[in-house]
Amino acid sequence: MSESKVQIEAEREKQIRAAEELLFAGPQRLGLAKGLFLGRFVADWVMPYPNVPPEEQAELNDSLTRLRAFLDEHLDPAAIDLQADIPREVIDGLAHLGVFGMTAPKDVGGRGLSQMAYCRVMEEIGSRCASTSIFVNVQHSIGMRALLLFGTPEQKRRWLSPLVRGEKLAAFALTEPEAGSDAANVQTMAHPSADGSHFVFNGEKRYITNGSIAQVLTVMARTPVVAVRKDLGQDDTAVTAFLVTPDMPGFSVTEARMEKLGVRGTATARLAFRDMAVPKENILGRQGKGLKVALTVLDFGRVTFGACCTGAAKTCLRLAIQHANTRKQFGRTLGEFELIKKKIARMAAGAYAMEAMTTVTASLIDRGLEDYVLETAMLKVFTTEALWLLVNDAFQVYGGAAYFTDKPLERMLRDARINQIGEGANEVLTSFVALVGMRGPGQQFQELMEALSRPWSDFRKVFLIGLDRVGAAVRAPEVPVRSRRLEPYARRLGGLIRLFNVEVNRALIRHREEILERQYVQERLARAAMELFASACVLSRWDAELQAQNGDSQSGSPLHNAAELFLRGSFRRARRSLAEMNDADDAIVTAVADWALRGERNLGAV
Ligand SMILES: Cc1cc2nc3c(=O)[nH]c(=O)nc-3n(C[C@H](O)[C@H](O)[C@H](O)COP(=O)(O)OP(=O)(O)OC[C@H]3O[C@@H](n4cnc5c(N)ncnc54)[C@H](O)[C@@H]3O)c2cc1C
Repeated sequence: MSESKVQIEAEREKQIRAAEELLFAGPQRLGLAKGLFLGRFVADWVMPYPNVPPEEQAELNDSLTRLRAFLDEHLDPAAIDLQADIPREVIDGLAHLGVFGMTAPKDVGGRGLSQMAYCRVMEEIGSRCASTSIFVNVQHSIGMRALLLFGTPEQKRRWLSPLVRGEKLAAFALTEPEAGSDAANVQTMAHPSADGSHFVFNGEKRYITNGSIAQVLTVMARTPVVAVRKDLGQDDTAVTAFLVTPDMPGFSVTEARMEKLGVRGTATARLAFRDMAVPKENILGRQGKGLKVALTVLDFGRVTFGACCTGAAKTCLRLAIQHANTRKQFGRTLGEFELIKKKIARMAAGAYAMEAMTTVTASLIDRGLEDYVLETAMLKVFTTEALWLLVNDAFQVYGGAAYFTDKPLERMLRDARINQIGEGANEVLTSFVALVGMRGPGQQFQELMEALSRPWSDFRKVFLIGLDRVGAAVRAPEVPVRSRRLEPYARRLGGLIRLFNVEVNRALIRHREEILERQYVQERLARAAMELFASACVLSRWDAELQAQNGDSQSGSPLHNAAELFLRGSFRRARRSLAEMNDADDAIVTAVADWALRGERNLGAV
């Protein structure tokens, strides 16, 4: 093996070890997404369709009414974009309305509401101004989340109340020049002082939202590992989460507001730490477990992305409908043309699905389920890509009018682009979904192979695993719906889950451990899994709405037609992804890319 191959192999081994420790150390309950990869439908994760708890509904309605009135009067998204700043009056107003404490416990001044209720509020803000919704996301979903989840009682008492009241602002600082998608590669060092009372920070962070205006920052830094395991040397380090304040000597803002394309109202900063002393009491969670903290915090951020994208999608739909109903060309309104109808219908179907997925995923957090990391990743990828298509559709319906700054669409287009990059780039999350999802069936195969090498001693094991695999391959799981009208869709979804599992098994048998490098294959499986997840959420929502209308009405309301359109398209997309498992251009894609990557001179021949 060449030296570089050995290095890549060693790095891969290291990453696998880290991922195993990070993702699979706790109890592994079979959730919806992991179930799909095993050919099962874990119905109670998605059905019946969840609702905001009844005891919260009145408070939520009241909050939304007051929020809407405040935003109508005080929020000017165009001015925020132009001036690249969110006025303090808006921040104070949101704080006054309790937005920064929606899900924080009451004993620190929060409102103790559910994620589902919070998502409704974020959808409202996201429908109006992406800068403001990202700001709130950073303040409440991720900035104070590590404190809420991992803080000691003393840390919570000391730090949380001013954040919840908006007297202090929060930031979450993970990204660095060498640690973007590769979050584990944090280079900021935090060395323990000789007397052990504090850690000395050196390093820099970039792209940190609120970084220059926050008074409390959750910062990820590398600390030495106290070697307890034989394979870890004394020089090994691991990431730890710390609470940092900008008044600490050595903290500096090297760029307060990086000029940028979209979400211009947010303050995106570069920070530097030079011999900055941080007390050991400021460690959040356990030393060396910062990546677990970050991963858990980002779960919450990704659910908020789903809510904000849903809000923005609904605005795109509303704007497109307004324009299609009023603009006349060729003597007719645009909405009378089929190619415009197609866009409007696609947008309605997409927005319906985005809301359904967000609601279901938020409910997983509310139910206290342990392991929804795949669902939040799928939600993030799916809704951010759906919004991008929706903005594009709305833009096209508007034609030239969308291009000018007197209309909101050019801003919305610029704002929407960050969603596919921030809090886990979509490519990285797509690969993550496939690999974490395949771990369950992969392990079963590994156990089967090991047991097959001694079939007589492990006969029972071979029999049971074999039965499970064969069962999943021949039997479609039941998708339980209450409305008779939806049974054909439920059966089709069950059939697709079976087919999906067959392709997962095939991919594992064909590629074995090389599957870790086969991103084309990973992408097709992850895409199919996302469609199955989205379809399950849509089916659940549609079922609940039919039941609320008193059962099995055959006549579909327009909303239900949107659900139906989504399901048809989603099933088709899932099928296409799976069909491409055996019929794709992977080899030639690699060949062309490698040829192009070898040198720009090749481009002359294109
Ligand atoms: C406006 C804005 C606000 C932000 N706010 C914050 C914040 O508050 N806190 C914070 O910590 N960070 C923040 N970020 C950083 C953000 O999370 C990172 O930009 C993101 O994680 C991607 O890292 P990167 O930009 O270094 O891209 P890179 O990691 O360099 O990736 C570049 C491209 O390569 C692709 N890629 C990377 N690795 C792989 C792979 N293994 N397989 C396939 N494709 C791959 C990615 O998909 C991406 O499109 C913010 C960024 C922006 C732009």
